Amino acid sequence: MLFDLEHTARINDVKSCTSGQCQWVRRAKPNTNSCSLHDLKLTKSEYGKQEKAYADINNFDPRSIIPHPDTLNRKLREGLQHVYSSAVGLHVLSHCPPPTVDEDILQSFITLDENIDSVEEVEAIEIFSIYDIRDNFVSLHNIQVSASESVDTQLVSQFFEAISLTQEQADMINEKTKGQGETEFWVKQRVGRLTASNFYKICHLRETTNRDNTLRELLNYCPLPPERTPVQFQWGHDKEQAAIDLYSKKFQKRHKGQCVNKSGLVVNTSWPHLGASPDGIRCCECCGKRVVEIKSLFSKRNLPPHIAASEYIIKVNGKYKLKTETRWYYQIQGELATTCFKIADLIIYTNKGILVIEVEFNVEFWKAMLKKLTDFYIGYMIPELLTQKILQKLP
Ligand SMILES: [Zn+2]
Repeated sequence: MLFDLEHTARINDVKSCTSGQCQWVRRAKPNTNSCSLHDLKLTKSEYGKQEKAYADINNFDPRSIIPHPDTLNRKLREGLQHVYSSAVGLHVLSHCPPPTVDEDILQSFITLDENIDSVEEVEAIEIFSIYDIRDNFVSLHNIQVSASESVDTQLVSQFFEAISLTQEQADMINEKTKGQGETEFWVKQRVGRLTASNFYKICHLRETTNRDNTLRELLNYCPLPPERTPVQFQWGHDKEQAAIDLYSKKFQKRHKGQCVNKSGLVVNTSWPHLGASPDGIRCCECCGKRVVEIKSLFSKRNLPPHIAASEYIIKVNGKYKLKTETRWYYQIQGELATTCFKIADLIIYTNKGILVIEVEFNVEFWKAMLKKLTDFYIGYMIPELLTQKILQKLP
C-alpha cells in the first residue's frame, strides 16, 4: 500500500501533503470580535428560523434535580436495607417518613406544559375474553341466569355480533400467548371459544346426542386438578421439544433460513368464536410459513411412528397421507383456516423417531366444518353462556 502510494506520487510528480513546508491555512472570513461568554451563541443562522433561547449560563445548575436531604436519607436507608439488612448504619440513619406531596401542588405541576419532557401518543388496545363480553351483555340486557329460562334468538345473534374483534386485538391475543405456555390469559381467551382440538368432536355430534356433556367439557365446568393430569399428556408435552428438534434437523439443509417458532392462540377475525393453538409455525425463505402440529402416542410410544399412527394414516402411491375422518385432520384444517396458511406439517413422534406428513388446506372440507361449528356455537354454546343452565344443574 505504502509502496503503491509512493509510486503514484512519483509518477504523477505530485507532492504529498507531508513532503512540503508547513503553511498556515488562512481563514476565509476572520472573526475578530470578542464577546463575553454570556452573549456567545453557537448557532447556525438559517433564513426564517427563529433563534432558540438557551439556558442562562450564569444561573445554570448542571444537576438535573437537586434532591431533598430527606429523600437522600430515605434512599440510602432503603438501599442499605436491601443490600445488608443488619448493617449498623441503619441505626445511625434517621427514620423519616416518606415525603408527602400536596395533591394540589402535584396537580399543578403535572398540568404545566413546561414540566413535561415529551408526549407520546399510545393507542390502547383493549382485549376482552368471551366471558367479559358475556358478563357485560347479560347485565345490559338484564338476562336472568336460571335453570329453566330459554334465551331469545334475537339476543343470541346480538351476542354473536358482540364477540367480534379487530385485527389489532387478534394480533395482541396471539402475541400475548406466544411461548407463554398455559397462562391465565391464555385460558381466559380460550374459554367460550371452540378450539381446533375439539372440532372433530363437535362436527360428529349426532342429532340425538345430548349436548350438555359436550358443553360441560368445552366450558371447562369440572376442571381436573393438576395432579390428576393423565400421564400421557405430560409425556406428550415433555416430548414436544424433542420432536421439534428432530424435525428442524431433518429439514434445515433443504430449506434456507429455516426456523420453527412457537405460536400463541390464533383467532381469525372472520370467526371470533373459534380459536386454534398450533404447536409451531415453521418459516423458511424458500417456502414461507406453515403450521406445525405434533402428535405423540403414549400407548404406542415404543413403536415406529408409521405403525403407531396406523389408524390415522394411509399410504397412497408410496407416500403417507393423513386420513380425513380423524381428529387430527379436523384439528389441522382448523389451524390452517384460522392462521390462513396453506400447508401444515404433521409430526408423529414416538421413542423410535418422527414421521412428517404434509397436510394441505382443504377449502371445501373447511366450509362444511365451519357450518357445523357455527351452528353448534349459535344453537348451544351461546344459550349456555348466557343462561348458564347446565352450570346451575351441576351438583
Ligand atoms: Zn423452504
